[in-house]
Amino acid sequence: MAIIGAGVAGLSTAIRLSHAGFEVDVFEAALSAGGKMRELMIDGYRWDMGPSLFTMPHYIEELLDLNEVYIDFEYQKLDEICHYFWNDNTHFTAYADRDAFEDEVLEVFGVDKTVINKYLKQAEDKYQISGGLFLEQSLHQIKTWINTDALKAYFKLHRLDIFKTLHEYNQSTLKHEKLVQLFDRYATYNGSNPYRCSGIMSMIPHFEQYFGAYFPNKGMRSIPDVLYQKALQLGVCFYFDTHVKTITHQQGKVSGIALQDGSTKNYDVVVSNADVLSTYRKLLADNKRYKRYQKQERSTSGLIFYWGIDKQFDQLDVHNIFFADDYQAEFQALAEGSIYDDPTIYLHISSKIKQDDAPLGCENWFVMINVPSNGYQADNWANKYRTIIINKLSKQLHVDLSSMIKAEYHIDPLEIATVTHALDGALYGSSSNSRYAAFFRQSNKSREYKNLYFCGGSAHPGGGIPLCILSGKITSQLIDEHHS
Ligand SMILES: Cc1cc2nc3c(=O)[nH]c(=O)nc-3n(C[C@H](O)[C@H](O)[C@H](O)COP(=O)(O)OP(=O)(O)OC[C@H]3O[C@@H](n4cnc5c(N)ncnc54)[C@H](O)[C@@H]3O)c2cc1C
Repeated sequence: MAIIGAGVAGLSTAIRLSHAGFEVDVFEAALSAGGKMRELMIDGYRWDMGPSLFTMPHYIEELLDLNEVYIDFEYQKLDEICHYFWNDNTHFTAYADRDAFEDEVLEVFGVDKTVINKYLKQAEDKYQISGGLFLEQSLHQIKTWINTDALKAYFKLHRLDIFKTLHEYNQSTLKHEKLVQLFDRYATYNGSNPYRCSGIMSMIPHFEQYFGAYFPNKGMRSIPDVLYQKALQLGVCFYFDTHVKTITHQQGKVSGIALQDGSTKNYDVVVSNADVLSTYRKLLADNKRYKRYQKQERSTSGLIFYWGIDKQFDQLDVHNIFFADDYQAEFQALAEGSIYDDPTIYLHISSKIKQDDAPLGCENWFVMINVPSNGYQADNWANKYRTIIINKLSKQLHVDLSSMIKAEYHIDPLEIATVTHALDGALYGSSSNSRYAAFFRQSNKSREYKNLYFCGGSAHPGGGIPLCILSGKITSQLIDEHHS
């Protein structure tokens, strides 16, 4: 069978299918595996260009443990998950340790420990009720919905807060404005809007608080690297620098692929790890389905600056957030296709933990703001927001940041779209802004094309590394069931 794309989901699917005994060929347009998980090196600095937050490492362990040949993959748990900063100099440290986290909530916001304890218990409850149902199985098979576990879950659906927005839920439970903003932020973990996505997203903090946040010792880029090695070990065949032009099909049945060089290859089964919309528009020339999926709102994109800074900042850590003064105005601007003038800034510094990512005494800054995914004014944005970000961070850190940037590069929605074929540069495929988003997301098995499957951030169960790896698991199980 053929897999189009060697992103983490394509790799996860390839590993499982090969382990199950299928012959697997992976076709990747780029020169190496990893998709959005690229890296950049300039003048002694190294940056992971895409994901920086690593949660649920056990999904990777599961893949590496499929056979008994050891591959070195070490990672460490972060004691401090994220540092949050507000314009009025409030500083909150999100500790991994639950007691320390609750103490910090009390000290910084004056909110009683029982409030946060109850919130996190409810997040865990939501995950227990719905995680197995919504994240780990295909939503498009009857057996997912008719079994004892699903029936038990139906009786608890009212506990999921599906019909409130995440913000409404947070406001009614957390009370303190800044604490609400902090927990609203979890909507951005898959590029969604807390004022529109469902309260069920309040389960996300449970992933961080219960399973923890991690960083791979060799950087985020080592995730696709080890998965690629595992796939090779299991006999997967890779074709890099090989752009698939079309998926060939006749009378609704997929027969193989055609490559950019004009050659064709026949396959019984084709899996697309490419963006779902690109698959319909470019690979299948299926305008009808393209238009249907196009109606789903895209996740946000990012404007990201990679800065080599010739100073070290003790008050910063691996993950840092500098909040906008008005979060609602920020998301309103994004919804209208623009960027708020005081955007929330995410600052990731991997050299805090992996010291050789920057020269001695320096730091490698990954500085990102959320931008709309249809952002074709990207050039103007880069110039304008570079200045805004520098001014905001200089003020907060009491330095002249512009004089400290010694190496620099940036990417915008256009580059993300061009390099990773993600339509409009959406980081996570479709957003979860509709409460029915999970049901409208592309199913892992095509209903229209026999023998066509989907995996990856724009297919079920959604974007982000853990879910992409799960999508590979669901897709490979479906293929195993239908084609063994
Ligand atoms: C800046 C940024 C920050 C992020 N931060 C986080 C984070 O902190 N934590 C997190 O969990 N997630 C994060 N994400 C999201 C995460 O990166 C993605 O959800 C995940 O990597 C997507 O993996 P994927 O397998 O779906 O596909 P992709 O990584 O998009 O890979 C798809 C692959 O398919 C190939 N391809 C497409 N079309 C063709 C074709 N026609 N022929 C051949 N090859 C083709 C592409 O070249 C690409 O390599 C971030 C993403 C970005 C861009």
